[in-house]
Amino acid sequence: MTDIDWNDYSVETQAIRAGHQRTHEGEHSMSIYMTSSYVFNSAEEAALRFSRQQPGNIYSRFTNPTVDTFQKRLALMEQGDRCLAFASGMAAIMAIGMSLLKAGDHVVCSRSVFGNTVLTFENYFAKFGVTTTFVELSNLDAWAAEIQPNTQLLFVETPSNPLMELVDIRGLADIAHQQDCLLVVDNVFCTPIMQKPLALGADIVVHSATKYIDGHGRGVGGAVIASEEIIEQSIYPYLRTGGATMSAFNAWVFLSGLETLAVRMKAHCDSAFELAKWLEQQPAVEKVHYPGLESHAQHELARQQQSHFGGVVSFELKGGKEQAWKLINATQMLSITANLGDVKSTITHPASTTHGRLAPEVRLQAGIKESLVRVSVGLENIDDIKQDLLYGLIL
Ligand SMILES: *Cc1c(COP(=O)(O)O)cnc(C)c1O
Repeated sequence: MTDIDWNDYSVETQAIRAGHQRTHEGEHSMSIYMTSSYVFNSAEEAALRFSRQQPGNIYSRFTNPTVDTFQKRLALMEQGDRCLAFASGMAAIMAIGMSLLKAGDHVVCSRSVFGNTVLTFENYFAKFGVTTTFVELSNLDAWAAEIQPNTQLLFVETPSNPLMELVDIRGLADIAHQQDCLLVVDNVFCTPIMQKPLALGADIVVHSATKYIDGHGRGVGGAVIASEEIIEQSIYPYLRTGGATMSAFNAWVFLSGLETLAVRMKAHCDSAFELAKWLEQQPAVEKVHYPGLESHAQHELARQQQSHFGGVVSFELKGGKEQAWKLINATQMLSITANLGDVKSTITHPASTTHGRLAPEVRLQAGIKESLVRVSVGLENIDDIKQDLLYGLIL
């Protein structure tokens, strides 16, 4: 078992088997190492471990076998050299900024990223002299125009939330590298099952394991995947010192999440595609945003860049906020929550929840109308999901 090179296997197999080194107990399923520290055989060995001249466990803030298994597995799946796990997706994003940026540096970020990512750059990195410019996600010329001599990072989420817009990752990576910048891709919406940003030229992938990787809404976690050099010189020293560590228990939960990720993603995407096509035919619906539809502006790019079209569908109703809220309130089964990537379908009104803190004109500029509703399509029977939406669509 220990001799297998998991690089030779497909992502579905890696997700189930890679990274686990069975102990002398012969356990079939990964065990949880609930220990804060580890014992050394001698003072000499302790010194060698602490100076990292000898590999091995030291302290669970930065070395834990359960967390390590999760890291090895996700690194393989993303086709990266190494992965480090964090306490949350936001902790992982914070780690990238803290370890790679300094006062005077500049970041270019797509306008449509996760709300707390915007706040991290605007409220915290700005405090320490790092400036950020926000640009339209899909417009490569806009990215190139905003790069300054002090720009260090380009940060992007593709597809975006909630409108499912895309950017050409390879094109953006070329722009980044021409200007000696690093490209960071938040791959939460696609997971490595659907999209591999590192293979397309990105330098760093960031994850919230809270979403599809767990898939059952049980825990909060995050991860950074990058080259040996970036991890070893920047991210690892920050994790060891900063301490926003993933717990062994959560790593164990996420490992079982990874084992079913491929089948879950395919099922989420199949149902979302069917729902998007069905919604397009409903008289009460004005417009559906889903990359699988030919009406989507970047349908062709989605076909090339992703293996599937995604598990999230958003749509505009005829009428405004009133119609949107009516539809949400008429559902019987769907969970009214802003979370996504769960086996349970969720429904939300972005303009008053996830994007409610944006100024109305900024929100409209981003295309998030009052009539917009977002559904994260779960794994319930698709006919039951349609029926649940129908209560509000025929009001
Ligand atoms: C949820 C989310 C995050 C943040 O992750 P947490 O685990 O909630 O901290 C970052 N990016 C995207 C796209 C997300 O959906």
